[in-house]
Amino acid sequence: MPWYKQLHWQIILALVLGLVYGIIAAMQGWVTFTSNWIAPFGDIFLNLLMLIAIPLILASLITGIASLADVKKLSRIGGKTIAIYLVTTTIALVIGLTIVNIMQPGSFVPPEMRQQLEQTYAGEVGERQDLAQDAAERGPLQPLVDIVPRNFFGAASDNGNMLQVVFVAFLMGIGLMLIPRKKAEPLIQFFDSLNELVIKLVGIIMLTAPIGVFALIADTITAIAGDQPGQVMELLGALGFYMLAVAIGLAIMVFLVYPAILQLFTPRSLKTFFPGIAPAQLVAFSTSSSGATLPVTMECAEKNLGVSEEVSSFVLPLGATINMDGTALYQAVAAVFIAQTLGMDLTISAQLSIVFIAVLASIGTAAVPSAGIVMLVIILESIAVPAAGIALILGVDRPLDMLRTMNNVTGDAMVACVVAESEGQLHQPSGDRLSEELMEGDLAEGNGSAATERKTPEAR
Ligand code: ASP
Repeated sequence: MPWYKQLHWQIILALVLGLVYGIIAAMQGWVTFTSNWIAPFGDIFLNLLMLIAIPLILASLITGIASLADVKKLSRIGGKTIAIYLVTTTIALVIGLTIVNIMQPGSFVPPEMRQQLEQTYAGEVGERQDLAQDAAERGPLQPLVDIVPRNFFGAASDNGNMLQVVFVAFLMGIGLMLIPRKKAEPLIQFFDSLNELVIKLVGIIMLTAPIGVFALIADTITAIAGDQPGQVMELLGALGFYMLAVAIGLAIMVFLVYPAILQLFTPRSLKTFFPGIAPAQLVAFSTSSSGATLPVTMECAEKNLGVSEEVSSFVLPLGATINMDGTALYQAVAAVFIAQTLGMDLTISAQLSIVFIAVLASIGTAAVPSAGIVMLVIILESIAVPAAGIALILGVDRPLDMLRTMNNVTGDAMVACVVAESEGQLHQPSGDRLSEELMEGDLAEGNGSAATERKTPEAR
């Protein structure tokens, strides 16, 4: 297939065009025009992805778990998945802390700039502090309580509650596995059918990805630059080193750590992995939400990387909600950067406690834009750094959110490959099938696409 027909190239093109347009719009003062006439298309794309995220988690996890032979297999795959997630998050934190200690980005912020940032973002800091305060005040086991919803529809009505939906899906999947097959069958069929439907919808929504991505990027750039692009340059000057520290850490994760693990534990080549996961990375970059990207991540993992449906439908929804290596790395760098800028020396034990708290914080971070910064407040408070310090970094949070979300999604896909291989369920991918299906009209006709190839639960 020619390159320009491949989805990831189309999205990259849209991204570059959005960037160029955004810069021109900011310089020409087209902020209102952009937010009135361009941004809505980005919102529609984001809403469409969000719309199918919860049904997808529910349907794929329930059918995925119910189709496993027994609880033993579930605990084996589940244990492995969570263990690898914890290991990669810890590696990310260690890398983040090492980089921020070597680069010392906090020493590059001029004192006047620090005061200015603190004043500018004082209001926004308050909002986030309130949110974090609620979270922090509720006792050590509250995060566990929060995973268990008291009302299913309440949980499913808020995309920030994905972990609760994952929990309900788990419970239902296990229940279905344990009741007699004859009784379980109608519900399994129902969710399997819902799964097919959602997968089809992902394909249709992805047809609009280039437009959505263009609009999201154009809007982000103009919103950041506002009517005074000069200020952005000033901000970048002061915080450039901090941003660079985060970006280097994320690049090490994505281009060194994940490939190394992939090469060690799977036969999947990097030449297959990176182009295969590119559409999901690009959507993650544009939407800043691993939750919204989940449908695309699952499509890419199954079709382009050869991960079996059984593994992807279990590992990826779980990963999107609890595995956030990029977020953890960013939180570590940001916490130490803020302490450095405020002239506070963090002891080794304070830095080690960042590792522990950030692992938990990244699990608790919702898979939506900017969620990481709320959890950062909790980390700061636990190491006695004033939480108001997030004022220093709020202005540049969005681009870093885009990058860390991309890292989060890549990490999930990599772990899906490793778990699939360990279960003998990593198959030969058949090329960039997502693009082919989209471009060759399979979606419209419904032939030869994922839908017809998916096995029914009995056949698995
Ligand atoms: N936006 C990130 C995600 O959805 C979470 C964060 O803010 O770090 O993965």
